[in-house]
Amino acid sequence: MRLADSHCHLNYKGLAEHQTDVLQRARDSGVVAMLNISTREREWDDVVGVAEREPDVWATIGVHPHEADQHPDVDTAKLIERAAHPRVVGIGESGLDYYYDHSDRERQRASFRAHIAACRETQLPLVVHTRDAEEDTAQILREEMEQGAYPGVIHCFTASSDFADKALELGFYISISGIVTFKSAKDLQETAARLPRERLLIETDAPFLAPVPHRGKTGEPAFVADTCRFLAQLRGEDADELAEATRANFHRLFAKTLA
Ligand SMILES: [Zn+2]
Ligand SMILES: [Zn+2]
Repeated sequence: MRLADSHCHLNYKGLAEHQTDVLQRARDSGVVAMLNISTREREWDDVVGVAEREPDVWATIGVHPHEADQHPDVDTAKLIERAAHPRVVGIGESGLDYYYDHSDRERQRASFRAHIAACRETQLPLVVHTRDAEEDTAQILREEMEQGAYPGVIHCFTASSDFADKALELGFYISISGIVTFKSAKDLQETAARLPRERLLIETDAPFLAPVPHRGKTGEPAFVADTCRFLAQLRGEDADELAEATRANFHRLFAKTLA
C-alpha cells in the first residue's frame, strides 16, 4: 500500500519531539507523501524546514482561522512571497471556524479571502478548514471563484452532503480524516461512500483525530493506512487501489510535488 497523508502537523507538540520515529513509522506503513500544514506565521520556518530535510514531506504556508486576529499583517502579497519556496505546494489552512470563534468572524472572512487571492495568483491549492460555517464558506468560495479560478481541497471534511456537492461543483477535492471511522459519524460515512473517487484525498490531521483502532492516542501519519482501509470497506473498494487513487489525486492537486 502506498499512501499520501494530505494534512498533518508534524511540528505540533506530540509529534515534533519524536519526528524521526514518527516519519519512520509512517514510511513503514506505506506513507510515501505527507503534507505538513501551517497554522500561524511563527511556525512557517519550522514547517517548511521539515519539507526541506525530508524528500517525502511538503509544506503549506498560511494562517488558521483561529489565528486570524493575531495576523492582521499576513496579506496576499506575503503569502505569495513565502509560497514561492520550492517545497511549499499549497496555501492554508485557512477558512472559517464558527464553532470555536477564536477569532472575530469578520477577520476570519478577510483572512480567508486574502488566502484565496494568493491561490488565484499562484494557482497553488487552497487548504480549507470549515466548521459550523458551511453557508459562508460556500458563498465565499463561489464569489471568489467568479473573480478567477483556483484549485483547492476541503480538509477534514465533516460538513453536509449538500456542501460536498457545492465543493465538487467548484472543482474542489474532499479530504477524509479519521473521523469517518468513528461510530457516531453515520452521516459522514454516507457522504464519504458516494464521493467520486477521483476527487478523494485521505488525511490524518495528526496529532489530532487518531482513527479507530488508535482512538485516544496521539494521531500520526502512519494511521492514514487505517482510515484508508476503513474507507475502502465503506465504499466496497480494494484498499490498495483506493490508496493508489488517492495518492495520485494528491499529486494531481498538489502538482508542485511533482516538480
Ligand atoms: Zn483544520
Ligand atoms: Zn489541520
